[in-house]
Amino acid sequence: MELCIKCSDEIPAGRLKALPDTKVCISCSTAGRKKAITITGGKGEDTYNDIILVSEEDYKEYTKDEVRKNTLD
Ligand SMILES: [Zn+2]
Repeated sequence: MELCIKCSDEIPAGRLKALPDTKVCISCSTAGRKKAITITGGKGEDTYNDIILVSEEDYKEYTKDEVRKNTLD
């Protein structure tokens, strides 16, 4: 479990999955407008989709690495 370095709230697991290096929660990630991204988690029948909100800055970080997007599990 990771805690936001600004407000000490727990950072949602989905956000950490998409942005493993993030140190702040979505509320504290105020750079730019918010974007929604879809991540896929789990395996086989336990696969699930999660929609999370990220800042534009986070979005660029997330989308710059296409390989990572395709290997999330
Ligand atoms: Zn926060």
